Amino acid sequence: MTEKYVYFFGDRESEGSAKMRDLLGGKGADLAEMTGLGIRVPAGFTISTEVCSAYYKNNENYPPGLEKEVEENLKKVEKAMGAKFGDEENPLLLSVRSGARVSMPGMMDTVLNLGLNDTAIQGLIKKSGNKRFAYDCYRRFVQMYGEVVLELKPEEKEEDYFEVLIEQKKKERGVKLDTELTADDLKALVQQFKKMIQEKTGAKFPDEPYQQLWGAITAVFGSWNNRRAIEYRRINKIPGHWGTAVNVQSMVYGNMGDDSATGVAFTRNPATGEKKFYGEFLVNAQGEDVVAGTRTPRPVNRAGKKDERSISLEEEMPGVYQELEEVYQKLERHFREMQDLEFTIQQGKLYLLQTRTGKRTGFAAVRIAVEMVEEGLINKEEAVLRVAPEQLVQLMAPIFNQEEKVRAISENRLLAKGLNASPGAASGKVVFSAEDAIARAGEKTILVRLETSPEDIGGMNVAQGILTARGGMTSHAAVVARGMGKPCVAGCGDLEINYAKKEFVVKGEKIKEGDNISIDGISGEVIKGELEAYPSEIVQVLIDQTMKEEDSLLARQFLTLMSWADDIRRLGVRGNADTPRDVKVARKFGAEGIGLCRTEHMFFGGNRIDSVREMILAEDVEGRKKALEKLLPMQREDFIGIFREMDGLPVIIRLLDPPLHEFLPHRDEEIEELARSLGVPPEKLRAKVTSLQEQNPMLGHRGCRLGISYPEITEMQARAIFEAAAEVSKEGIKVIPEAMVPLVGEVKEFTNQKELIVKVAEEVMRDYGLSASGGLKYMVGTMIELPRAALTASAIAEEAEFFSYGTNDLTQMCFGFSRDDAGKFLAEYVERGILPASPFQTIDQEGVGELIKIGIERGRATRRDLEVGICGEHGGDPASVEFCHQVGMDYVSCSPYRVPIARLAAAQAVLKQRK
Ligand code: PEP
Ligand code: MG
Repeated sequence: MTEKYVYFFGDRESEGSAKMRDLLGGKGADLAEMTGLGIRVPAGFTISTEVCSAYYKNNENYPPGLEKEVEENLKKVEKAMGAKFGDEENPLLLSVRSGARVSMPGMMDTVLNLGLNDTAIQGLIKKSGNKRFAYDCYRRFVQMYGEVVLELKPEEKEEDYFEVLIEQKKKERGVKLDTELTADDLKALVQQFKKMIQEKTGAKFPDEPYQQLWGAITAVFGSWNNRRAIEYRRINKIPGHWGTAVNVQSMVYGNMGDDSATGVAFTRNPATGEKKFYGEFLVNAQGEDVVAGTRTPRPVNRAGKKDERSISLEEEMPGVYQELEEVYQKLERHFREMQDLEFTIQQGKLYLLQTRTGKRTGFAAVRIAVEMVEEGLINKEEAVLRVAPEQLVQLMAPIFNQEEKVRAISENRLLAKGLNASPGAASGKVVFSAEDAIARAGEKTILVRLETSPEDIGGMNVAQGILTARGGMTSHAAVVARGMGKPCVAGCGDLEINYAKKEFVVKGEKIKEGDNISIDGISGEVIKGELEAYPSEIVQVLIDQTMKEEDSLLARQFLTLMSWADDIRRLGVRGNADTPRDVKVARKFGAEGIGLCRTEHMFFGGNRIDSVREMILAEDVEGRKKALEKLLPMQREDFIGIFREMDGLPVIIRLLDPPLHEFLPHRDEEIEELARSLGVPPEKLRAKVTSLQEQNPMLGHRGCRLGISYPEITEMQARAIFEAAAEVSKEGIKVIPEAMVPLVGEVKEFTNQKELIVKVAEEVMRDYGLSASGGLKYMVGTMIELPRAALTASAIAEEAEFFSYGTNDLTQMCFGFSRDDAGKFLAEYVERGILPASPFQTIDQEGVGELIKIGIERGRATRRDLEVGICGEHGGDPASVEFCHQVGMDYVSCSPYRVPIARLAAAQAVLKQRK
């Protein structure tokens, strides 16, 4: 431990710096840094985190010598501020606050206005010329000190001694609001508070400022180990031995008259990123007045004025404003980052209270990062690290007009909040089934379901957005909506949906089919009525091509940032897509191939489902083959479309995966109609449907198990793939098909399917006369989505030419969590800290991740050049992408709209590893 415990800042001199975060805590280090830059900060000192650790190690005793250092530093503060602790003329008042290495917002204690007593109050009255203000400070101080230091803060449901006295006083005076109490009322309250404290604690309220100070310091150190703080550290993995620092700092007041003010500002616009100083302030007010929204703040400068009536700080106090401008420029140049400032003007003198990295929207993050490179403030690597990949979602999603949305909420039109499963804004008429959505195609609709299933795809495709009452982030609705780039709010448990009546009830309000609602997939809000939504600029430029690149600064800056990310990343990025349109979107967003084409989604388009059903219900191989023959040309056309879009890039096509009963009709009318069209008795059909039902379909007859039972399905799909490849090759298009077998757990399952695929491939090449020229290049590989596949990867890699991790199923099978039902309890798991996040969203590195590593290691031990990727939902999750980079995968694959997110995350993974 160092021999120095206390670090001074003030009078433009500072003993600490930003580099001393571990010792001084975040707040202390920042205050020191600002002071060191010559910026006026209310003087103070920081007691180091080492003192906290020593205090606890030493049975709650301070190290010898600390007291003397505190006294010396207090003298320096008095000198810097020209005020004296406890003085009758010009009293120094202090704040005492915690400050750990990382911010733990609201977890620890604070005492304000410390140093007030019956003498010092006279000084404060004189200095402020405002008796009420002075007694209000005194009243707040005694209350805060009583609660925090003397532990009179009531627990839930307990009597709040201070509030009881305040209420009594208000009743006595016949007023309703605290603000209606006069200086004398507050003065009397101070005495009543003190009397009550003596009764409750058996000790007199400490009037001696030094005693107050030590009481507060000890309380703040003590709050490091309060229940809330310990819990917060456990959840956020902050070690207990770090300890907190204590910051003792002079109070300054923005409410000392019309030459005083307080405000907040951003060095650039936090919503748009525009390089314009942006902020708000209030004259004669305290910080909390700005936040509380009881008074309307004014803009700091002319540029921020919305109308002529509100006078800006620039106009009202030009000298101070100019100083503020110099300060913000200095801070931004110094930190090379957009800053969020808090300032107070006390009787014409500007003080900075805080500066920190400013929070911003995704739009602002991209603009600021790119422009700061252009300005020479940061380099490209830093710019790439400045944008959180998840923020890019905002740039691509359709958006509501914000003002309109705020108005709707203020009109009480917010119906419910669910999971923000797929970003974007959508408004339309409520429909309750896919058929109804299709029947209203051309109108704007929102498809409302308990949950969705593959047979709803058609309806989801024509609806503007999807709202479900059940399901989590990997529910069918969420996955498909994200894939389509469609807004989706999922798991909105408050909705009571009644399909029969075609209505839902929420908060006692009934919404019927045809009523308009709006859903915001960025926030999860469901709003009654219509709001206007627009496609994002990025989509207009890149996908719809309804806007020119040169007309969109946002699109240009987005593409610039993406190009920097691409120069840095090692991981490849592919898209998961099933239709030519989705494939095109993936490519426009920068996908370097298709990592997963789920062929079953193609079985629902148009009247294909009839042939699929005919195939499933066939009595024998011949019957199945007949039905499959009808499907062959349709699948081939699909693949031709996809191969054309992906000219020159690899495309992984997965063979049929889901359990067959998912394709069958379930409702009586549907069964009867199908029976009629197939010419079979309805009872027979119903019996077949029943026989196909399974207790655990996810563990049942699905994946390669289907292909093994019904080899003709695999043959048809393989034929469609290779004939499509052969066809487009004739057009001069370069195809790289990769056929993928799902749900393999044993190498012999794979070999069985591979033999069929290779046989068909060779036949097709022979038929197309391609064998002579060396044939088409293709690969046959497998998904690794069962624990057994990962564990036996060395044997599987003998046969498989590539692995693609299906982490949706791998997570399901590793945890034994049903991916369709886990939403019910996973939120609780996360809330209680049993799991850090849903493992269906972010790879569980300790369990599932271990299986992935084992699989890669064993697979590559057998086949050195084994291509390894991921195609589960995790392929678009930034933390999981980082993991995929670390374990040496070749690529990640995700839904088209997440491709840019994965590109950025992959670049960040490289930069983080370098660090
Ligand atoms: C997976 O299991 O991760 C996967 C991509 O397949 P699906 O989601 O289609 O089961
Ligand atoms: Mg799977």
